[in-house]
Amino acid sequence: MTGTVYLVGSGPGDPALLTVKARRLIEDADVVLHDKLPGPEILESIPAAKREDVGKRAGGEWTPQEYTNKRLVELAEAGQTVVRLKGGDPFVFGRGGEEAEHLAERGIEVEYVPGVTSAIAGPGVAGIPVTHRDHTSSVSFVTGHEDPTKEESAIDWGALAETGGTIVVLMGVGKLPMYTERLRSAGMDPETPVALVERATWPGQRVATGTLGTIVDVRDEVGIEPPAITVIGDVAATRDRLGAFLLNGTEPAGTEE
Ligand code: SAH
Repeated sequence: MTGTVYLVGSGPGDPALLTVKARRLIEDADVVLHDKLPGPEILESIPAAKREDVGKRAGGEWTPQEYTNKRLVELAEAGQTVVRLKGGDPFVFGRGGEEAEHLAERGIEVEYVPGVTSAIAGPGVAGIPVTHRDHTSSVSFVTGHEDPTKEESAIDWGALAETGGTIVVLMGVGKLPMYTERLRSAGMDPETPVALVERATWPGQRVATGTLGTIVDVRDEVGIEPPAITVIGDVAATRDRLGAFLLNGTEPAGTEE
């Protein structure tokens, strides 16, 4: 019997934000293939004997996607029940689509299990709603780190600036100077609020705020590193209005009642 592969979202990292279904599938799985993004607490809760890390290897190299694809097929063909655990939601910049297609082409059954995406929950735990009736009625989710082999940027930053809506950038710490500059040259107000949310819901979550004009300096002063979400737009100022009444982030992740 060929095994099944479950493409499971872990949520942003707080174990309490794993879905009930994700928890059950992890418990029942023979093997859990994961990278680092589910965060330290969720990964430590999985018995080491059934964990396989397909994220960054010692030496800083990424496990090639071909290896992960091949390994998923190999395990399923050996009759194993496999959980492919991904940070956030598997279908939001998670290569879940590619893996599902690869498996289906080889006759292996796949089930998608949604997770709480950091694209929405990351800003949220910093007190930033990605939409707000008073400020914006659209939101765009974009990657700040495109395939470096692509000649032209697939992202039209000028068009994004035109929408006037919230812009949420994933994988956008390194390229922050590039896209904040493009948005400004496209006419976006340099005073537009911007927030960086690092390790959202993990122990040690940090938030840094500034404007389109200052955020690169803020990033450097605070030393923000991946994984972090960038949220650009008037909604980012909501955080200031919540002040001390926002409970998220004031306790170690997962301890809030
Ligand atoms: N599938 C994931 C996104 C994977 S792309 C999801 O739905 O959340 C990887 C990027 O996700 C990171 O570079 C970062 O921008 C973002 N990310 C994932 N988890 C995060 C977290 N806990 N805090 C902040 N950013 C996170």
